[in-house]
Amino acid sequence: MANFTEDQLQQIKAALHKRYLELQDEIRSELVNAGEEFDVRQADDINNILADVDTALIDKQINEMRELEMSEKYLMELEFGDCVDCGVEISFERLIANPSAQRCIECQRKFEKFYPPGSTPSL
Ligand SMILES: [Zn+2]
Repeated sequence: MANFTEDQLQQIKAALHKRYLELQDEIRSELVNAGEEFDVRQADDINNILADVDTALIDKQINEMRELEMSEKYLMELEFGDCVDCGVEISFERLIANPSAQRCIECQRKFEKFYPPGSTPSL
């Protein structure tokens, strides 16, 4: 695990959670705008809804939420802050700006070269 202070970890955790809630709100309002028949305001677990919905509009947010969930998991497992590709420590500044970051900047560049935004890596 990257060598963050307790204070830095708390800040990253807060940034992570804030971003997660923002995304949830964005997705909720987009679902409402999309006129889906289910009542998203009543849903306590938005993931149950998302399992049934497949729109390009919210794909990006869903992906980021998944990454945030992964980051939260890593935080719990004390593996947080290390690049998933090369194991190098991701900088505190990068994590605060982009709490779902899974890679150091160098590996992220390489990754985006292979999988440009908008492409579908699974195909
Ligand atoms: Zn890396």
